[in-house]
Amino acid sequence: MIDRPDALTGRVAVVTGGADGIGLATATHLAAAGATLVLVDLSPALPDVAAALADDHDVAVLPIIADVADEHAMAAGFARVAAEFGRLDVLVNNAGIMTPHLEPVHEVALSDFDAMLRVHLRGAFVCAQLAVPLMRRGSFGRIVNLTSVLGALGLPNRSAYAMAKTGVIGLTRSLAVEGGRYGITANAVLPGWILTGRLRARLAAGTLDHDRYAARTPVGRWGDPADVARMITFLALPSSGFLTGGVFPVDGGYCVRGDADEDIGPLHSGQEAG
Ligand code: NAD
Repeated sequence: MIDRPDALTGRVAVVTGGADGIGLATATHLAAAGATLVLVDLSPALPDVAAALADDHDVAVLPIIADVADEHAMAAGFARVAAEFGRLDVLVNNAGIMTPHLEPVHEVALSDFDAMLRVHLRGAFVCAQLAVPLMRRGSFGRIVNLTSVLGALGLPNRSAYAMAKTGVIGLTRSLAVEGGRYGITANAVLPGWILTGRLRARLAAGTLDHDRYAARTPVGRWGDPADVARMITFLALPSSGFLTGGVFPVDGGYCVRGDADEDIGPLHSGQEAG
């Protein structure tokens, strides 16, 4: 049976990093499907973002300004979710930062390494630790963790981010195996190159080459945050209960592409990117 458009009505979803980019697009899609939202972010813009979402979709949206890796702040945040809504159905571990400098392993400052692992690994772990007991109480849960191309491919100069995004897949598998009997699924979503505000700024500054990544991507374009949000929302649906432990690419084919172009000709000759 096809899901109703309001398939998440009555469900409560926590989205970390929900003030911007993929997290905001995900929050928008979950709200459109009827979910009550809890957005966790460090951004001071979060209350305004939450108010706009609540207005647009006529759902409750609770903004929590907190660091996902701060276990005390997050324990208080999840306690508020339990007190105000009495349940938790969906957790999207999306909050993230990017490699501040592109450097080989031997040049990475340990402070940058620690910051990277703190947000992506400690943050996702802390939120999962707090979410699982609430989900078990309702015998239902959907956990979606954001990994990356760097969780699947070896690329230079992003080692700490690659470690973090590979580690997230390990957490996903453990949660899937532990959660199955309690109605809890856990999956990872693997975005390719997605045009978020953060990456648009880097493209505008000339530190990233738009056409190079579009050309390397089989579908010939960058992704939109909504491309990723659709997959996350699909995995959050009650009807997705047999999908667990997976890593779902939303990358336009980036990760399955080999490197035999010299032999088969250019990938996008005569095609428009976009
Ligand atoms: P973004 O920078 O647009 O949004 C990330 C949000 O997370 C921001 O609002 C930021 O304030 C918040 N955040 C950062 N650290 C936090 C913390 N400690 N606690 C709470 N909130 C925090 O990023 P995005 O591009 O939308 O990326 C979202 C996720 O997707 C990240 O995990 C990222 O690694 C992953 N990803 C993005 C891309 C891409 O191309 N944009 C590709 C692959 C994976």
